Amino acid sequence: MKRVKYIFVTGGVVSSLGKGLASASLGKLLQARGLKVNMIKFDPYINVDPGTMSPFQHGEVFVTEDGAETDLDLGHYERFLDQNMGRQNNVTAGQIYDSVIAKERRGDYLGGTVQVIPHITDEIKGRIKKLGRVNGRADVVIAEIGGTVGDIESLPFLEAIRQMGLEEGREAVVYVHLTLVPYIKAAKEVKTKPTQHSVKELREIGIQPDILLCRTERKLTKALRDKIALFCNVTPHSVIEAKDVDSVYEVPLMFHREGLDDLILAQLGLRGRQPDLSQWEEMVERIMHPPRRVKIVVCGKYVNLWDAYKSINEAFVHAGVENDVGVEVKWVDSEELLEKGAKHFLRDADGVLVPGGFGERGIEGKLEAIRWVREKKIPFLGICLGMQCAVIEFARNVCGLLAANSVEFDSETPHPVIHLMPDQQRIRAKGGTMRLGAYPCILTKGSLVHKAYGELQISERHRHRYEFNNEYRECLSECGLRVSGLSPDGKLVEIIELEGHPWFVAGQFHPELKSRPTRAHPLFREFVRAAVARRYGPGAA
Ligand code: GLN
Repeated sequence: MKRVKYIFVTGGVVSSLGKGLASASLGKLLQARGLKVNMIKFDPYINVDPGTMSPFQHGEVFVTEDGAETDLDLGHYERFLDQNMGRQNNVTAGQIYDSVIAKERRGDYLGGTVQVIPHITDEIKGRIKKLGRVNGRADVVIAEIGGTVGDIESLPFLEAIRQMGLEEGREAVVYVHLTLVPYIKAAKEVKTKPTQHSVKELREIGIQPDILLCRTERKLTKALRDKIALFCNVTPHSVIEAKDVDSVYEVPLMFHREGLDDLILAQLGLRGRQPDLSQWEEMVERIMHPPRRVKIVVCGKYVNLWDAYKSINEAFVHAGVENDVGVEVKWVDSEELLEKGAKHFLRDADGVLVPGGFGERGIEGKLEAIRWVREKKIPFLGICLGMQCAVIEFARNVCGLLAANSVEFDSETPHPVIHLMPDQQRIRAKGGTMRLGAYPCILTKGSLVHKAYGELQISERHRHRYEFNNEYRECLSECGLRVSGLSPDGKLVEIIELEGHPWFVAGQFHPELKSRPTRAHPLFREFVRAAVARRYGPGAA
């Protein structure tokens, strides 16, 4: 039986170098060579998952089909590999400790002292190896270790991958280290010292990296590559230039030009076909040179934090590719919108999106934005909280239920148009207790969403506690709110549209999580198409 090979990706010098993107790009390349790839991300924090963290701490929480709340890097993995991830693809220190402690309580280690080495490290190795076996055997498992080399928290993970190098043999393991090679303006020089230090630190804990991915603004000259190679104990052709790029989707192409996939195949003794990256190249070309542009305003709360809505940004890129248009996304803080008025920000918008979110702050601004697009007939897409806001706005301003609200923001509201379902009312614990993951939804024939999806049964991913209150279904429908998506038992309102509006769609789920670069999500695709029609006329879309 063929053996599973392992690639370990670590990062050094500073965080935010794009380790997740680098890992996803590598996965994409190996997949293009005909290999079956699986991916795992380790996060060294103690939280069981990022679901309980603020977006300001963590960025987007990426929800998988099976309802796991995971790191946003899993979004990169899904988009680059066009492959669904799940609970087992993101493992935190919290989960590792949790299961080791559970085993100890069960008596599995009876008589033994439970320690970081070997118990914690064994658990980590177990999770990596397991991934090589799920859903048919993988040829390669790529394991990305979160954090930066030198962090106390990541030590057990680094120790575990060090052990695996020894146990699996050197022809079964590649260590890839992502590092920074900064350009220092004052000296007008590119500096290799931070990389030398980072590699030194790795070597001190027993890991000699095989390949260095060097993030840099400038070209890595031959002299620089030679120097890095010499000081870091790798061959010069293992020093890979990872220059800043305009689109994240260029990264796999850049790595391929640098010979990264050949290098890895050779080291792992794997044979792969020549990759056909032409479709991917064409997509990048379209992203880089759109013949026209539309402007979409996203009205949300975490607008200064680029990572908080990562998948939404990407979904717009994908939708732009399919509509042959550059989507300029402008982020507006809903509190500021309330202050300065909707007109100030939305005057020249071709479309408006209200994304998901939690808590009361900023809600009134979102309602104001929705009132504007409803009245001015600007295309609108509401996501999760965005749908709940659309329902509240409609109830208040169209149906005259002036005090309508969600019980999330006002538990005493006389018109709880958004409320807690009975099965959520008992729940007190916060972690993993929302309605999470993929749920089926039945669409109404002839609706905008039916047209968009081209089918009547769909499945989308959820992450929320509150739901549309059915007691208001009739009253809102009479005023022109159309329910166009329901759970199969008819009990949960999943999608709403508005009569007499060219394109107003809001869903209780997160479509952005399922958008892929070569297959834009139908709702984003049609939303952008409606925006193009608004700007350039119906014939242009
Ligand atoms: N806060 C809302 C709820 O819990 C919406 C959540 C979201 O937008 N993801 O139902």
